[in-house]
Amino acid sequence: MRNLSRRTFVLGGLVTAGTVLGSWHAVQAAVPYPFKLGVASGEPEPNSVVLWTRLAPSPLNADGQGGMANADVTVEWQVSSNERFSSLVASGSVTARYAQAHSVHVVAGGLAPDADYYYRFRAQGHISAVGRTRTAPAVGTFGRDLVMAFASCAHYESGYYTAYRRLAEDAPGLVLHLGDYIYEGGTNTSAVRQHVGGEIVTLADYRRRYALYKSDPDLQAAHAAAPWLVVPDDHEVENNYAGTVRENNTPALTAAQWTARRAAAYQAYYENMPLRPASTPSGNSIPLYRRVRWGQLANFYMLDTRQFRSDQACGDGRKVCADADLASRSITGGAQESWLLDGLAQRTATWDILGQQVFFARQFDAAGAGNMDAWDGYRASRSRIQQGWRDRAVRNPVVLTGDVHRAWANDLKADYANSNSATIGTELVCTSITSGGNGSGSTTIPNVATNPHLRFHSDRRGYVRTTISRAQVRADFRTVASVTEHGAPVSTLRSFVILDGQPGLQAG
Ligand code: FE
Ligand code: CA
Repeated sequence: MRNLSRRTFVLGGLVTAGTVLGSWHAVQAAVPYPFKLGVASGEPEPNSVVLWTRLAPSPLNADGQGGMANADVTVEWQVSSNERFSSLVASGSVTARYAQAHSVHVVAGGLAPDADYYYRFRAQGHISAVGRTRTAPAVGTFGRDLVMAFASCAHYESGYYTAYRRLAEDAPGLVLHLGDYIYEGGTNTSAVRQHVGGEIVTLADYRRRYALYKSDPDLQAAHAAAPWLVVPDDHEVENNYAGTVRENNTPALTAAQWTARRAAAYQAYYENMPLRPASTPSGNSIPLYRRVRWGQLANFYMLDTRQFRSDQACGDGRKVCADADLASRSITGGAQESWLLDGLAQRTATWDILGQQVFFARQFDAAGAGNMDAWDGYRASRSRIQQGWRDRAVRNPVVLTGDVHRAWANDLKADYANSNSATIGTELVCTSITSGGNGSGSTTIPNVATNPHLRFHSDRRGYVRTTISRAQVRADFRTVASVTEHGAPVSTLRSFVILDGQPGLQAG
């Protein structure tokens, strides 16, 4: 047993000779239960993982502080190789501070590669729920096949988080969340369930909104099931913002107020996500794009297509817009584009997986209109990245996407105007967890005549479960028929496989 701090012994007065060192016993606590937002883990590396919790005995307090006083609180943590915590491999204590809304980000180190672990916290005499996590395989090894589920868009008012619950029940080894984890809008009293408060603007507002979402037991189950890799999209700040440019001036804010709002949004995002300390925001920006290596099996490039993008061409929404082709336009910014292509050039793994926010493949209608908030509004950017991975002989590029509240599967083409051109990659688009409500159940593919590379579409809520092996990526499109009532079962609507060395979708 390593890293058992002296403080653990001091506070853990019940540890006596003959008992298992990992034993924590509930004591008569004088304060209410502080772990009402659950636990989470994230950013697995071969020897470490981030453990997260945030103390909030009264999550919905308007000050965003969750009922915590303005004082530091010591939080102990443990990692065990079994669920009974009889085999501790790491432990310690950390200070939860008022200035960070009593959130903690523990980098639990000294772990073995490609291994499963359990973790928990103790504070103020209370013990948290137990989370399950795991580490990545060592560099140069493939490790076990990986079940990776990805999801996005969980508008709280639109329904219950059944899809998060079903995702947890699939017991994935890794979860990717591609944004719209929260939505910024105010209360709609006719919704399935209600936001608390109006449109969120201040740090207190954002903190309280995360606390509302994280109070949901189905979301807590999804976090407790596996480590997550997260990136935000627009609604973690405000709909369709682009860098420092707002969609419109609603609610009306001065430039300084908008800057402060963005800073508040990024601060609250960091506080509430199992990110590494390297992603700590600095004022009006947050460093998020990163590569997470999964041994020799896969690289996950988690992209940020909001902070550095050019403003939407010709305004937001679907447009016919020649400006979208301008070479000067970028959805990633130049630095992130170079970083991505440099990383891809290293070809360190069988699968290079881009976890990102918005629709990547061309999807024009018959009139030539495309979504200016997606890569169709940044076509030179898309061309540079696609050509970049071709020039670097990237073996298996796979793009993962959220945002559109529909499931899609797409072949990526060297030339979208020529359906006979080479298929050079694959895109999998998860639907939403709740956003958009139950959905029609339609599987008609919009604009497929203009875009024959679009292979699958579904208007149901759910997520995508992938199984990544050396030979293939299998993708199961998991859907629930209802989010307006609790407890819908999940089923696989459609499956595809992507074969090693053969870009594009095969029947699964
Ligand atoms: Fe969304
Ligand atoms: Ca979005």
